[in-house]
Amino acid sequence: MNKLLIFPLFLGGILFSQQKTDSLEFRKIADVVMNDGTAYEDLRHLTKNIGHRVSGSEAYEKAADWAVETLKKAGADKVWKQPVNVPVWMHGKESLAVKGTDGKWKKIRMLSLGNSEGTGGKDLSGALIVVRNFDEFNKLADTDLKDKIVLFNYPFRQEIISTMEGYGDAVKYRVMAASAVARRGGKAAIIRSVSTAFDDVPHTGVMHYQEGVRKIPVGAVGPRTADELQEMAARGVLVARLNSNCGMRGEKPSFNVIGELTGKDSKKVIVVGGHLDSWDVGEGAHDDGTGIVQSIEVLRALKKTAYRNHHTIRVVCFANEENGARGGNAYADSLQLKKEPHIFALESDAGGFSPRGFGLIGTAEQKKQIRSWAPLFLPYGVYDFSIEEGGVDIDPMKKSGIALSGLIPDSQRYFDIHHSDADTFEKVNRRELLLGATVMTQMIYMIDRYWK
Ligand SMILES: [Zn+2]
Repeated sequence: MNKLLIFPLFLGGILFSQQKTDSLEFRKIADVVMNDGTAYEDLRHLTKNIGHRVSGSEAYEKAADWAVETLKKAGADKVWKQPVNVPVWMHGKESLAVKGTDGKWKKIRMLSLGNSEGTGGKDLSGALIVVRNFDEFNKLADTDLKDKIVLFNYPFRQEIISTMEGYGDAVKYRVMAASAVARRGGKAAIIRSVSTAFDDVPHTGVMHYQEGVRKIPVGAVGPRTADELQEMAARGVLVARLNSNCGMRGEKPSFNVIGELTGKDSKKVIVVGGHLDSWDVGEGAHDDGTGIVQSIEVLRALKKTAYRNHHTIRVVCFANEENGARGGNAYADSLQLKKEPHIFALESDAGGFSPRGFGLIGTAEQKKQIRSWAPLFLPYGVYDFSIEEGGVDIDPMKKSGIALSGLIPDSQRYFDIHHSDADTFEKVNRRELLLGATVMTQMIYMIDRYWK
């Protein structure tokens, strides 16, 4: 036989046996996680016994202590807290009422947006103007807007199939409404919640004040509520009365919580994580309790399958994703400072639903490598490797040139509940949660074995 032919046959044989080893290891991981994983019970504890945990709250401190204990129990070689200063912002008592042409005040369910200033506990009243979008808003004269309260009733675009994209489209109203209204002389802003649901549940989320623009209060109402207010406004002048106690209360020392399985023969680090903080509504179950318990499950599963990891595998429970991303920034800074080489970071922060794929921010070569693993993942329902995505907490590591990946779960129901009272433990399905942890463990295993 021609020597030149033997070589590719030999190589093909190696690849085939490697793939067989990997698919057996994938099966082993799935057996361990799906049968004996404790992510669901961990999540029950985090959501029911601790609850929501906004940055700087006592609940966050409790969650950090819980994460330390849970990582130890999962079998981490080392667990520690990394100090990070976080902004302290929270909701207080708040209310919104609207008076229509019938002259009666109607109570409206409302939630202030994150980082917004409130009314200082005083009533703020004014005529309520309803617009669909910035185009309609921009056509109004300054005199029409002076001292008004403006509601942007911009709907989440239902025809966009990836709700992550739909969110990206609608979220500009949440982020920019307050300063847009303040610049034109208005006194408060309200938005239609960035939500895929058709109900009266308001969703919070971070907003941003532009430099040099007056900080006016801003809140959100449910999608159906916004439509009702639009119909009422078409019938005649509306008056709104807003009262809220939210606002920034300085800063406070807090922590990222980190646990690792130390590498057997490499000093390089692979990160897997999610964020431990949440907004101060609901239970922070899908956002992002699921990402936290899945990441801890990765460590537990590698330990249980007796896999000997070459690189250090580190679970990072990030602080303050929701209103500052201080945890992610502190971690990215520290690895540069300590000159710790990192090769890959994976985040789960898109809900604990059935996994469908992995996003990747990396080189063309790295994308090719990950896509070559697709046949191994297909039996576990994971097929989409096309999206360019990491995660808010790991994105700051980009400056160190590390490949970043985000778990992509089914996104259809996430924005029904995201950042609202509806984000509770009951909305999480045990099998879907554990399947996400399974494929995350499989991905970390592949990275540890083959990543260049
Ligand atoms: Zn999140």
